[in-house]
Parts: sequence; structure tokens; C-alpha cells
Amino acid sequence: MRPAVVDEICDAILSRRRFLLTSHARPDGDSIGSQLAMAYALDALGREVRIVNADPAPDHYREFPGLDRIEIGPHSDADADALIVMECSDLSRTGVTGLDRHFIINIDHHAGNKMYGAVNWFDESAAACSEMVFDVIRALGVPLTREIATHIYLAILTDTGSFHHSNITPRTFDICRQAVEAGVNPAAMARRVFDSNSFGKLKLIGALLDSMELIDDGRLAVLQMDDSMLQLCGCTHNDTEGVINLPLTAREIQAVVFFKIGANGEVRVSMRSKYDVDVRMVASGYGGGGHKNAAGFTVNGRLDDVRPEIVARLVAAIQQGLVTRPGRKDEGRSSKFEG
Ligand code: AMP
Ligand code: MN
Repeated sequence: MRPAVVDEICDAILSRRRFLLTSHARPDGDSIGSQLAMAYALDALGREVRIVNADPAPDHYREFPGLDRIEIGPHSDADADALIVMECSDLSRTGVTGLDRHFIINIDHHAGNKMYGAVNWFDESAAACSEMVFDVIRALGVPLTREIATHIYLAILTDTGSFHHSNITPRTFDICRQAVEAGVNPAAMARRVFDSNSFGKLKLIGALLDSMELIDDGRLAVLQMDDSMLQLCGCTHNDTEGVINLPLTAREIQAVVFFKIGANGEVRVSMRSKYDVDVRMVASGYGGGGHKNAAGFTVNGRLDDVRPEIVARLVAAIQQGLVTRPGRKDEGRSSKFEG
């Protein structure tokens, strides 16, 4: 049984003609995939569609169908009968101004969603926002074309951390199964998304791992980067995508924090964790958000002033996570195989 709000969304879509789509600033695979899957579905219904994002997608998404449809800019004065916002707990997460005058359809899976739309569908249990977009597309009666399936799968593949995070359900695989039946090639998708690094990015990975700090007997890894490191490796901020997941491949490491210091002094903090270690709680203490195993925020002020406290909160979150998932001291998971 699908939630009643899905029918409300369908009614809102079917009774309108011109749509503007958006998602969060610094787009990731779920924001790109959710928006483009929705865009192709609206095309199929003969609707007019524009997409606006604050920032361009990372390079390795550029070859995916429809990326050239996304208009990039900090403001939009596009005319539309409805704005569909995907993947944003708050309208300000879009980083685009001029959007609040629209009839808004809000579709999101981030805890703490502010329900800022005229129609709001918030489902924290979705492993990716694209799972929700998939349900809307099916409820609209739009066939699952290869383009739509590709974007739905891209979003799931990336937002689950390539099927590592703890929010994966049978629904996730059911949608992936249908995507594969519609022509998605999982091996090609994985290679495209995860194995299309530049040599510069490999150098950056080396530099970051070389300077990685280990805290709390190796349970917490700390990565830090500034623009001089990027320049030395011939990289841009987009090349940092996915790097944060690498320390988690060490068995002992339960959580990773990545401090990215921008040229303007702004510090973006990204966090990832395993199992029950809840990094979203840490992010929400600093005005950010995300999910239990993937969260982030922006530091207001000097990093040195807040870094020790952030690290202490992460160490506490790791300890808390190990309490709810007791096991071997060195691993943070049961010695009995539960997988
Ligand atoms: P990132 O580390 O930037 O890839 O973000 C990890 C997760 O946290 C994603 O689901 C983001 O949407 C979410 N997130 C990051 N920063 C924020 C923020 N300032 N507010 C709310 N959610 C955030
Ligand atoms: Mn997402």
C-alpha cells in the first residue's frame, strides 16, 4: 500500500503543466539521479521541465543522460506551475534563491525535514530519495525507461555508499532489480561512478591518506584538506567526492571525519560511519544533518576553535554505537558473523 501523499503528489503533478526541479547545493548522485529521473518522467507526460542547481555535478556524472539540462546558478526566476524539491530537508539547502514563491512539492528522506512544501513527502526509511521518486513515477503510470532506470539506480548506488550503509531494505533491491530489468548494467554503473578517477585524484587520495590522523585507538580517522593540497595534486573540490569512504575500508575504523577548508575560510565537514555509529547526531549539533552513516555541516568560525569538540563528540558517538552493537573491541562489531 503506497502512502496517500504519493497520490496527492500525482494529482498535483497531473493538474500542472510547467515544472521547475531542484535539489541541494554541491549535488551528489542521489540529487542528480532523483532530479533527472523525475525530469524524464515529466517529459514522458508531455510536461515542460526546467532544472536549476546551485553547483555543477562532479565530473564523473557529466556523461549520464540529461546532465546538460541542468541550469547552474544561485538564483532562479523561472516561471513554473510547481517546484519539485528533492533531497532537501530545508529549502535553503538548494543554495538557490527565488524559489519560495512557487507551489512546492517536497520529496525527501533526510531526518528533520522542515515540511516547507504545499505537499510534503518525507520518508526517512528510504535508502535514497530516488526510491521515493521511483514510487511517484510508477504511481504516475510512466514506464521505466532506460534513462529513468539509470538515474534511479545511480542515486541508490551512491547514496547507500555502494550498498554499505545501514538503511538498505528489500525495497532497495526490488527497485534495483526493476532498474536492471529496464536495461541498467550494474558493472558499468559501478565502473563509471567509482572507477573513473583522474591521476590527480589518485594523488590527492595518497596525500590525504598519508596525512590521516587516527584517534581513539584507530576507531576514528581524521582527514583534512585545504586548497594548497588540491592545487598540488591538480584537483578541484569535486575530486574529493567519495574519498571519505576509503578509511572505512580499514576494519578498526568506525567513523571518518573530513575537514575541507575552502579558500574563503569556510570549512565543510563530512562524516561517515559504520553500523550503529550515528554521525547525524553530531552534524545536527552544528546545524547540519544527513543520515546515521553519512552526515555533514559547515563550520561557522575558525576550525581550530571547534575541531577538538567535534572530535570528542565523534569519539562519544563511536562509543555509543558500540554499546548498541557490542562486540570485539578492535572491530566494533560482533565476532559472530551477522552479515
Ligand atoms: P556530504 O558529506 O556532504 O556528502 O553529506 C552527507 C549527507 O549529509 C548527505 O545526505 C547530505 O545531504 C547531508 N548533509 C550534509 N551537509 C548538510 C547540512 N548542512 N544540512 C543538512 N544535511 C546535510
Ligand atoms: Mn539522499
